[in-house]
Amino acid sequence: MRQQLLQYVAESAAEDLPAYVYDLGDLREHAAAVRAALPERVQLFYAAKANADPRLLDVLRDHVDGFEVASGGELHHVHFTCPDTPIAFGGPGKTPAELEHALQAGVERLHIESEQELHLLTGRLGERTVDVLLRVNLPIALGPVALAMGGRPSPFGLDPSHLDRCLALIADDPRIRLRGIHVHLASGLDAAAHLDLARQVLTWVTERSDRHGVELTEVNLGGGMEVDYADPDRRFDWAAFGAGLRRLLEGHPGLTLRIEPGRSVTVYCGWYVTEVLDIKRSHGRAFAVLRGGTHHLRTPATKQHNQPFTVIPADSWDRPWERPEAEDELITLVGQLCTPKDVLARNVHVGRLRVGDKIAFALAGAYAWNISHHEFLMHPAPQFHHLDHAPVPTGPLP
Ligand SMILES: *Cc1c(COP(=O)(O)O)cnc(C)c1O
Repeated sequence: MRQQLLQYVAESAAEDLPAYVYDLGDLREHAAAVRAALPERVQLFYAAKANADPRLLDVLRDHVDGFEVASGGELHHVHFTCPDTPIAFGGPGKTPAELEHALQAGVERLHIESEQELHLLTGRLGERTVDVLLRVNLPIALGPVALAMGGRPSPFGLDPSHLDRCLALIADDPRIRLRGIHVHLASGLDAAAHLDLARQVLTWVTERSDRHGVELTEVNLGGGMEVDYADPDRRFDWAAFGAGLRRLLEGHPGLTLRIEPGRSVTVYCGWYVTEVLDIKRSHGRAFAVLRGGTHHLRTPATKQHNQPFTVIPADSWDRPWERPEAEDELITLVGQLCTPKDVLARNVHVGRLRVGDKIAFALAGAYAWNISHHEFLMHPAPQFHHLDHAPVPTGPLP
């Protein structure tokens, strides 16, 4: 945890908690490093569904080639927040109104998920043209991964056996410019597994385009770069991934690659900060009840992990009774919800934890607040803070 952030948390008042704190400087550095690790022929899109906080998008737009959105709502929000940044629109079940919205907003790519969607699109194109990728659920063997979206029965993308019909529809319609193929098959892939996937996808795409005589010049490999919640310092190896893609591209001179990570871009910059309201023991186990809970940070409940955290001790105690504490023991960190599922970390070791101490949960910058069930039990919403430590420009003032 950065010093500036630590200090900020230590100084925040209890009534200002829980809070989401975003370290924008950290995000800026991370996004720049990701971009720098990728070859020029790899375009970087950020999947907005991971976290579409406007301040985060504002930082990211300087480091990405575009944003990927997965609904009309995200399209509206991202287009409004960053009107000049290219947008790719994907996701299953696009409605006629969303397709119209996409055409009017002038999305840079439309990711087509089915034959039905293609028919809906052609029906409302009129005189307009559109650049599309066909999302295909490729028959690719994936190792054990966190969350498989394809390579097996799935509602996402086209079955490869339906590709021919879609290609025929597109071939007959000059308004639809087929740029290539989109895949997003899994999440939780490390660099080696993602490169292996990329290799298989490119082999498949090359065979297909040779067989059909169609020119597929763009392949979007999706997102899904691994984030290790058990070890926040073990990060996706962007340098190895970039080097591997560079080698892979040497064998495919006319091809442009695209990736659209979400979680691995923004997860590290966000912290969910709260305080310990109560500590108690029940049938031999220790529990710390925190202000807030999984209605603000649902990720550990959905992914069934322990959210990593840092304890920021608060030394003052002005109550007349003994301060409840846990020392050198295993404790379960829960929230304020009346459900046994409201667990942020289970049986984790703490050196010392006392009522009134603050806890900052790490890796809360993606799929955190925005996937949580905010209204359940009607507790107050957290506050949101954006810390920035952008270098102040030196030199003469204009
Ligand atoms: C969710 C999603 C992503 C981003 O996935 P991450 O695991 O957050 O990197 C990218 N592309 C598509 C199509 C998605 O649905």
